[in-house]
Amino acid sequence: MTAAPAWTLLVVCAAVTASVPVQRNDPETQEHCGYESCPPIKDGMINVHLVPHTHDDVGWLKTVDQYFFGQNNIQKAGVQYILDTVVEELQHDPKKRFIYVETAFFWKWWNRQDDSHRHQVRKLVQQGRLEFIGGGWSMNDEAVTHYQSTIDQMTWGLRRLNDTFGKCGRPRVGWQIDPFGHSREMASIFAQMGYDGLFFGRLDYQDKMNRLSSKTAEMVWQASDNLGKDAELFTHALYNHYSPPPGFCFDVLCDDEPIIDDKHSPDYNVDNRVERFLAFVQNQTKRYVTKNIILTMGGDFTYQDAKMWYSNLDKMIRYVNLRQANGSNINLLYSTPSCYLKAVNDAKLSWTTKQDDFFPYASDSHAYWTGYYTSRPTIKYFERLGNNYLQVCKQLYALTDLGPEDQVDLNALREAMGVMQHHDAITGTEKQKVAFDYARILSRGIAECNIITNTAVNKLVPLRKEYPTPVWENCLKLNVSQCAPSEESKNFVVTVYNPLAQVISPYIRFPVTGSSYKVQDAKGNSLPTQLVPIPEPVQNIPGRMSQATQELVFRAVNLKPLGFQSYFVSQVKSEESNTYISDESNASGNFGHKTYYYTTNRRGVLKTLTTHGVKFQVAQAYGYYEGAVGDNEEAINRSSGAYIFRPKSSTPKIMPNRSQFKTFKGPLVSERHEVINDWLSQVVRIYTDEQHTEVEWLVGPLPIKDGVGKEVIVKYMSELSSKGKFYTDSNGRELLERTRNARPTWHLKLEEPVAGNYYPITSRILLRDTDKKLELAVLTDRAQGGSSLKDGELELMLHRRLLHDDAFGVGEALNETAFGKGLVARGKHYLVGGPSGNVLTVYERQLAQEKLLTPWLLFSRADKYSFESWSKTYRMEFDGVKMPLPANVHLLTLEPWKGRSLLVRLEHILEKGEDPKLSKSVTVSLKNLFAPFEIVSARETMLGANEWKKDSSRLQWKTESNSIDRHEDTHQGSLNHAEDILSVTLEPMQIRTFVVEVKYAGK
Ligand SMILES: [Zn+2]
Repeated sequence: MTAAPAWTLLVVCAAVTASVPVQRNDPETQEHCGYESCPPIKDGMINVHLVPHTHDDVGWLKTVDQYFFGQNNIQKAGVQYILDTVVEELQHDPKKRFIYVETAFFWKWWNRQDDSHRHQVRKLVQQGRLEFIGGGWSMNDEAVTHYQSTIDQMTWGLRRLNDTFGKCGRPRVGWQIDPFGHSREMASIFAQMGYDGLFFGRLDYQDKMNRLSSKTAEMVWQASDNLGKDAELFTHALYNHYSPPPGFCFDVLCDDEPIIDDKHSPDYNVDNRVERFLAFVQNQTKRYVTKNIILTMGGDFTYQDAKMWYSNLDKMIRYVNLRQANGSNINLLYSTPSCYLKAVNDAKLSWTTKQDDFFPYASDSHAYWTGYYTSRPTIKYFERLGNNYLQVCKQLYALTDLGPEDQVDLNALREAMGVMQHHDAITGTEKQKVAFDYARILSRGIAECNIITNTAVNKLVPLRKEYPTPVWENCLKLNVSQCAPSEESKNFVVTVYNPLAQVISPYIRFPVTGSSYKVQDAKGNSLPTQLVPIPEPVQNIPGRMSQATQELVFRAVNLKPLGFQSYFVSQVKSEESNTYISDESNASGNFGHKTYYYTTNRRGVLKTLTTHGVKFQVAQAYGYYEGAVGDNEEAINRSSGAYIFRPKSSTPKIMPNRSQFKTFKGPLVSERHEVINDWLSQVVRIYTDEQHTEVEWLVGPLPIKDGVGKEVIVKYMSELSSKGKFYTDSNGRELLERTRNARPTWHLKLEEPVAGNYYPITSRILLRDTDKKLELAVLTDRAQGGSSLKDGELELMLHRRLLHDDAFGVGEALNETAFGKGLVARGKHYLVGGPSGNVLTVYERQLAQEKLLTPWLLFSRADKYSFESWSKTYRMEFDGVKMPLPANVHLLTLEPWKGRSLLVRLEHILEKGEDPKLSKSVTVSLKNLFAPFEIVSARETMLGANEWKKDSSRLQWKTESNSIDRHEDTHQGSLNHAEDILSVTLEPMQIRTFVVEVKYAGK
């Protein structure tokens, strides 16, 4: 990215305005933006809002840069030309409108404009002629994204718009026209960010048919069971996806007939074209309730020659409206989604409501878009790792006062993560080359952040200024047990940073090559350690560059919130070490520890789990579906592919359990290493003092010599009587109830019994038995597809390797390879079970936070040091907060913001009624929360940090009286509009966002 010019601008903005959000009033242009700039509509007529737009994927068939510059002719698409020609056209005619959505591309273009062009664009924005809609860094996916990353990517996009265009750059409408289904959490996030409405294109074909025929394609989405009106959002399902009426695409990419209005021409077609257009309009009008309809005049990468569109639209508007003189009641106008929304709002009608979500998405009876919940599992994991590190990076930046000058380094990862959220990035629905480019972009962002973490930690650790600063290395491949500093150094330091605002005591592990070690904490105490062998299938993962055959495990006890603890690790003679070599056996018997253990049958297969004083049956099985193969010509011939999951048979092939396992036991951890077949193995792991099972699965390279694509699943089977119901998280936050073979708002006709019951699992899926009062949950380390296809059973899809394209555009089979072999994926499930109720629910919520923001390990080689010399030179402990936050409060955001201010988000992580104590409102003092600085003032913003909370006023929508009146739910806390809020009260599931001014100690 060419950050320099933009950065200069940012600094200037920050210096002038001191904080966010900017309320810029350009004295030169007194015109209005926003709703005030909307074109007039004609009362009594059908107003047809023509919305010129372009849908610019932040990578898909081409890389981000290839799309921007127009390189690589696989698809004729150059975003720079779109913005060039649109801006040119808008200047000629004040009536013309355009919306722009993907800010990642907009800034690439803006950075290349000279002052006079920037001035022109500013003017267009101030007058509402160029309007930003959506406004995130990308148009994020909604199924496999985590809410933290969605909030981040929206915030970053909105921030840049706010910096440059002030309040006229604030989008009012969510524009999710292409993502493959829609989450309730995303709607909730838009509402909390102050958006007035949401438009989208894709919903289940049956749902769409019903909604259009009952005129309920517009509704008020009540997007949270906890947040009341704050999470309500007017939602519009588009009539014709995001395309223009058939035959009316006036683009260089289309072949549709232009409007020929020369009456002397033999090709004169005005009457014919107008008739056809009006016929479409009349049909659409019947499906919506107000006298307004919206037509999306554009598509993928359209408007590279904007004149072609506008000159034809000019004619269409002219000739259609001319008919009004003869009694036509159709009025065409250039408009925007927000102007359409305002017109609909002005109709003052009552709207139906919706409480569930729009998953799964099916485009026909055999095309369930549930494959992408799992597609490219290693990219999905890498993205989650990126989020973990981005939060660590932001926090350390803020805690150590690195100042504004280094912010560009942080932006690289912020923006990389913004790109990753795109609906063809984390979804795995891009071409292979593009997937590699996403990995490149994310790697670069991580490398930039490594500079920040080094600088931050080294600002804290040397006890004297003149001492040399250590080099801190990340080990990003710990998931395949590879880490150069821990393997190559005899002495090294591992600094464990805790990004949570609670005290945790995690188990730490990394690969080593020695046979006995001493691990010393800051006080010099020698900690108990355990050596555990690395399973052979892991050692053999293609591309793994490691000689290590064992991992060293120890527990980092009482790791302070936002703090770190350094551990000095030295390879020593066995008599000096505290290392326990795991006991190896292949006998069956109990597995686990005193209060949490499995019994096994005679063959050693896990049989019952005892936890929290109850015992119940639980079993596990791996299997795979064969991907359906067809020519994609008809619905029934659809292939399983990157988007679509379509098994050939509803019954998966279950892998026989060959009972090939070894157990390794010791004081810290017990493990079962199981080999299921040549391409499937797992480690089942129970740490002492933990009440869950860690299942580390290893899948691949998936064999395809038989010419069959495979979609690998794991099932967890229990005795729970779940009565057709199961629960899945929405983007890692609230839980939604699912009913097998059913949808809450229409009668489902299901011809794909497996794929049509799959839902996105971003962090958790669970079952409840209300009679036995038992619960079984699986937490994931990345997004996966999942379901409960039988009572008592949970199923998750781990990996997919397919040999056919599903014909939704990618044009490639999802056949990932690495190092010349089928791609191997390794990941973790966390199995939590026991008596249902508050204890388990709270455990699951906290575990989910701990696994999302895991302690970050920074390694430094210390061969020239002993513990004594290191501890005399370097500080080994750091506390970021004075007091841990209460168990139900999560520090969602701590990051450097504008100038010297910081952005802080606090979140209540429990839903109403989940726990008698912790589900209540909770009050936190901001003032003395952080150790390195004091917060001197805090101003609350909307969730996107681009608008002060007190300034926010959203459009009001009436809901039909038969729905529950949720108005009384509005939070007292949210009504507190005091300028300075240092004491923050949070209601269940509430997130509150603050721009804080701080004073660092000693300054
Ligand atoms: Zn798209």
